[in-house]
Amino acid sequence: MKEVLIATNNLGKAKDFDTLFKPFGVRVLTLNDLDEPIDVEETGVTFEDNAILKAETVARLLNKIVIADDSGLEIDALDGAPGVYSARYAGPEKNDGDNIDKVLKELAAVPTEGRTARFRCVLAVAGPGIQTETFSGSCEGLIHTERKGTNGFGYDPIFYVPEQGRMMAELSPEEKSLISHRGAALAQLKVQLPQFMESVGDHK
Ligand code: IMP
Repeated sequence: MKEVLIATNNLGKAKDFDTLFKPFGVRVLTLNDLDEPIDVEETGVTFEDNAILKAETVARLLNKIVIADDSGLEIDALDGAPGVYSARYAGPEKNDGDNIDKVLKELAAVPTEGRTARFRCVLAVAGPGIQTETFSGSCEGLIHTERKGTNGFGYDPIFYVPEQGRMMAELSPEEKSLISHRGAALAQLKVQLPQFMESVGDHK
């Protein structure tokens, strides 16, 4: 079976990748599946910097083709914050609940029309014998005033998707993958997937 390694410890993201790769019969591995832990510090100031940094560092260490994803939420009323700091917006513990509380507090006085936001995702593919490539996607929405829904992860419970009339956390994984920033970035990667999978080879 074909396998790809996703340079993340985030099981929420891994689930999204799993949904997206399943139709291709590709098994998704993450950093959690490795014997030795790898932690790459995200020192970049853009999603692209961080995605490339993660993919190239892990690919060099494992001598394998690796996909890294860097993503986050940009809120217009907060000048693009939390942006690349989305995971650790409320502190280094990377607590989704605390991050949501902080955003809701900061937007408390902002009316609906001013609560525009988008999720962004940049995927980087790096590894031996290939030139590092990036693919990006975004998903527009509004930050709601309270949590709704139990699916997904991160800011999904407060991210309202106008075209669906629901919160991101109210969508099934399959519905989310069709409209999400990660789905859009992956759709671009998919175009090159057959070529890319040739370089990956089969894992018994
Ligand atoms: P990183 O890409 O691991 O640096 O962190 C991305 C962070 O952005 C996550 O921990 C979430 O807080 C947020 N995020 C990224 N993608 C999503 C998504 O699909 N739904 C909700 N939150 C997301």
